[in-house]
Amino acid sequence: MTHAIEIKDLHKHFGANKVLVGIDMLVEPGQVVCVIGPSGSGKSTLLRCVNLLEEPTKGHVHVEGIEVTDPDVDIDAVRRRIGMVFQQFNLFPHMTALQNVMIAQQRVLKRSKRDAEVVARENLEKVGVGDKCDSFPAQLSGGQQQRVAIARALAMNPDLMLFDEPTSALDPELVGDVLAVMRKLAEEGMTMLVVTHEMGFAREVADRVVFMDGGVIVEDGPPSQVIGDPQHERTRSFLARVL
Ligand code: ADP
Ligand code: MG
Repeated sequence: MTHAIEIKDLHKHFGANKVLVGIDMLVEPGQVVCVIGPSGSGKSTLLRCVNLLEEPTKGHVHVEGIEVTDPDVDIDAVRRRIGMVFQQFNLFPHMTALQNVMIAQQRVLKRSKRDAEVVARENLEKVGVGDKCDSFPAQLSGGQQQRVAIARALAMNPDLMLFDEPTSALDPELVGDVLAVMRKLAEEGMTMLVVTHEMGFAREVADRVVFMDGGVIVEDGPPSQVIGDPQHERTRSFLARVL
């Protein structure tokens, strides 16, 4: 079976700042892997290396068997298989929710306006904002905006989804709606790599939890182990701060 994501000895330096120093990770199709760890430990950089938003300094990344670190790779083709959701929702402010979900379908996948609109409405419905098609981002709550951003990613029919702290910018009372959408996606079998501080979500939804610190993976295992019975002092002290 082809791994969804395979990361081998990944290093990323920004000048003298060695942010990732030898990451090895496997994500299998249908798995949900949550990445946790302190601020600055390299979680976002790791995620961004998967779709080459950052170019690795050394090492290999494969997505569905295709080496993204191969200089000859068609990176646009690989990126089309990967949906990404950021902490800041990055919606176009001058477009309605519907237009935000249609635009990449039309531009990148060359879908007709009619097809793009059908797919957009389906996905906005799926994430619970089907009644907000004609609203502009400024008219939506943070939780609604983030769900539009998830619908936008899903409308491209990705094989896997990367989430970078999707609920960190939200007011606490809006976090649950976004996590519920992510949980539903997980139940439907979506492959997901999720950077999060939501330990409840990680514990209940993740197949594996990866704890990163200082650019390395300190612990990788089922949530019952990494969160429930951490083996390393660094993991324990991090969990003591966030739980
Ligand atoms: P995390 O997501 O775990 O908080 P990041 O991956 O965002 O950590 O950042 C890890 C380190 O990499 C930080 O020291 C940050 O300043 C540095 N870094 C991240 N992106 C860049 C960049 N584009 N240029 C220079 N330094 C960066
Ligand atoms: Mg980050």
